[in-house]
Amino acid sequence: MKVPYFLSHAKTLSLGLMIFALSWILPAHASPETLTILFTGDTHNRLEPFFHTELEKSVSGVVRRARYFEQVRQQNPRTLILDAGDVFQGTPYYNFYLGEPDIKAMGLMRYDAMTVGNHELDNGMLNLRTQVQFAQFPVLNANIVDEKTGLLVFRPFHIFNVHGIRVAVLGLMSEHSWKAIAGEQKKGYTLKDPFETAQELVPQLRQQADLVISLHHMGIWDDEVFPQKVADVDLVLGGHSHTLMPQAKLIKNNNQNGLGGTLVQHAYYQGVYVGRIDLTLDARKKISDYHSELVLLDARFDPEPLKEILNTYGGKLKTDMDQVIGEATDHLSVANKFDGPFPMGSVMADILRESQNTEVGIMNSGGVRSAIPRGPITVRSIYEIMPFDNSVVRFKLEGEDLQEIVEASAARLGKSKTLQFSGLTFTVKGKKVTAITINGKALDPDRMYTVAAPDYVFKGNEDISFEEAEDAVMTGLLLRDVIIEYVRKHKQIDPPQDTRMLRIDTK
Ligand SMILES: [Zn+2]
Repeated sequence: MKVPYFLSHAKTLSLGLMIFALSWILPAHASPETLTILFTGDTHNRLEPFFHTELEKSVSGVVRRARYFEQVRQQNPRTLILDAGDVFQGTPYYNFYLGEPDIKAMGLMRYDAMTVGNHELDNGMLNLRTQVQFAQFPVLNANIVDEKTGLLVFRPFHIFNVHGIRVAVLGLMSEHSWKAIAGEQKKGYTLKDPFETAQELVPQLRQQADLVISLHHMGIWDDEVFPQKVADVDLVLGGHSHTLMPQAKLIKNNNQNGLGGTLVQHAYYQGVYVGRIDLTLDARKKISDYHSELVLLDARFDPEPLKEILNTYGGKLKTDMDQVIGEATDHLSVANKFDGPFPMGSVMADILRESQNTEVGIMNSGGVRSAIPRGPITVRSIYEIMPFDNSVVRFKLEGEDLQEIVEASAARLGKSKTLQFSGLTFTVKGKKVTAITINGKALDPDRMYTVAAPDYVFKGNEDISFEEAEDAVMTGLLLRDVIIEYVRKHKQIDPPQDTRMLRIDTK
C-alpha cells in the first residue's frame, strides 16, 4: 500500500493529528501480518544427515529440511525461503554430480531464491550456469559482471509478492568470497564493489517493495558493516563465514522500517540449522515486532522413526509369531470337514465350550481354515487356523431348539455349512437324527442349555438360525485369542478320541 505523503511525514504532525490520520486512513479490519523468512547458507552439499560430533547427534539432510519448511509453510503461507550461497562442495555428491542434486533438491524444497557463493564456481561459470538451469527459483547476484559484455551474469534481484507483502531480495558477493575463487574459474568475470552496488540498487527497490532483504555471500565481517554503509535494508541474511548466530543482531542505522536498524543473521553451515526470522508488520508494512532463532534440524524432523518402529516391532513380531505355545501330539486334520466331526473342528468346539464354561460348544466347520500338524504350535499357526476376527458368544438354548440345530447341520452332511459340536453327541440313522446326548445324558427338549459359539454362527451366517437363543452375551473375546490362551494353558493338544457322531446307514 502506498503511504500518503502526509502520513509518511507524520513526524512533523502533532500526535493528535497523527492518530486522527491513522484512524482515518487505516481500514478497520487491518491487523498485523507476519512474514516468516527461513534461510540457510553454506549447506555445502549435505544432502544426507550426518553425525555432528559436538552436538552428539545426527543432524541436517535435505529430507529434514524439506519437512521443516513444509511445516512452517503450513503454519504461515507468508513464508519466504532463501539461501545465502555455497550450496556446492563438501561431500562426494559434489565430486560426482557437481551440484545438480543440490539444486534439484532445493527446487523440491521450494526455495524462493539463492545467492551465489564462491564454491558455486569451483567448477567454473559454465558448470554453475548448467546447474542453474535446474533451479526452479531465481539465483541472485548483483555484482558479478561479464568483462566482455559488461553485463551482470545473474539476475540482480527479485521482488516477491508474498500474499500481499512485497519483498525485494538482492544478492551480493564480497571481495573476500571472490578472492576465494580460483583464478581460472572466474576468468572473464569481475566483481563490482558490493557496497556501491547496494547503494545504487536499494533506493530503487525501496520504491517497489515493502521490505528489502540483502542476501549475502560476504562473511560476517562485511555483513556487520553493511548496515552502516547501505541504508534502508531491513534484513541481511549472510553466509561464507559459517557464523553461528542464535539470534539476529539489530544494527541501528536510523532505518525508517520500524526497527531503526537492519537485522543481520547467519545460520552456521552444513544445513545443521535453518535460520528463522518472523517479522510482524503493521498496517503500513512497518516492522512492529520480530522474532529470530536457529532451528536445529535433527531427528525431530525425521520421517525415519516411523520406519524404525516398523523395523523394530516388525522384527519382534516375527519372533513372537513363531513363539511355540504348545504342542500337538498328533496331526489335527481338517480333512472331510463337512462329513461330520473332524479332529481340528472338534478341538475348536471344545475350546469354545471350555472358554465359556458352557455345556455345549458349537463351531462352524467352514470356519476351521487349516490343520495343525503334529509338533510345536506357534502363534502364527493359530492365525492360520483363525484368520478372521470372529468373537465368542455365550447364550442359552432350549433343548428342542438345540435339537433342531443338530438336525439342520446333519441334513447337510457331505455338503457344506455343517457344525462341529462339543459336549454333544448324536446318531444319524439314515436321514434322521436320534439319541442326542448332552454330556452323557439324553437331551431334554424342555431344559435350557448353555452354549458357546462364534458370533458369525450365532448371527445365522451359516443359514442355521439361533433366533430362539436367550441371555446372549457378546463376550468381545476374539476366538483367535481364546484359542491361543487354550493352547498356552493346555500345552499339549490331543486329537479328541470320543465319538461325537454315530452314523448308521439304513438301506
Ligand atoms: Zn563461502
